[in-house]
Amino acid sequence: MVDVAETEKASGRMSLGHDDILRWIRAFAAEVEANKEQLTQLDSAIGDGDHGINMQRGMSAVLGKVDAGEESDIGALLKTVGMTLVSTVGGAGGPLYGTLFMQMGMAVSGKEELSSDDWAAALEAAVTGVQARGKAEPGDKTMIDALIPGRDALKAALAEGATFEDALRQSADAADQGMRDTVPLVARKGRASYLGERSAGHQDPGATSSHLLLEAAAETWGRPGQAR
Ligand code: ADP
Ligand code: MG
Repeated sequence: MVDVAETEKASGRMSLGHDDILRWIRAFAAEVEANKEQLTQLDSAIGDGDHGINMQRGMSAVLGKVDAGEESDIGALLKTVGMTLVSTVGGAGGPLYGTLFMQMGMAVSGKEELSSDDWAAALEAAVTGVQARGKAEPGDKTMIDALIPGRDALKAALAEGATFEDALRQSADAADQGMRDTVPLVARKGRASYLGERSAGHQDPGATSSHLLLEAAAETWGRPGQAR
């Protein structure tokens, strides 16, 4: 029988194992930690100032859980991440990021290796899950505004035959642009929507953490971004 993962490695195609996914999760936790103050400041402007601490608390709980495991099933790993976030993080962010990781886990259930297409499918499921849970549409000034451009750029790049590294970089850069594009928007979902027009002129904290999530993938499995 042909080992798909080995064939992909031999042909130069990307294959992510359990430890690669763990490296991405650790990288995201490190990004959250490094950007905690910024996330807090952004959420202070249009929310209640807890997004940085929420995400930091959640991701450190995740690190405690996943470090302990001897699991090789990537689906199970991602589901554990999601469930840990749901149970340790309050507010909107916990359930939404929890859903994101749990849906990713469902999409790759039982797999020990992910191809680039599996990763695209996992990201697709993540976005679908966050939208099903939070009912946000593009332009509502939420994490969706970073995730959807990130998902679309990844799919488009892979469809054009880009390397996985290049596709991840394009995905992270599109999420970065989507995050910046939340600045002029008026929030229509979540706490920031209570401010109405006054929410315009500020970058959305959730879109900012979602950019970090995709940037962590690009930096972990691909190349570092250009310094801006
Ligand atoms: P809370 O708003 O409950 O204090 P956080 O501060 O952790 O929760 O998270 C705020 C972020 O959650 C917002 O910046 C926004 O990106 C995201 N968010 C809020 N509501 C929704 C929603 N319905 N769908 C998608 N994202 C949302
Ligand atoms: Mg908040």
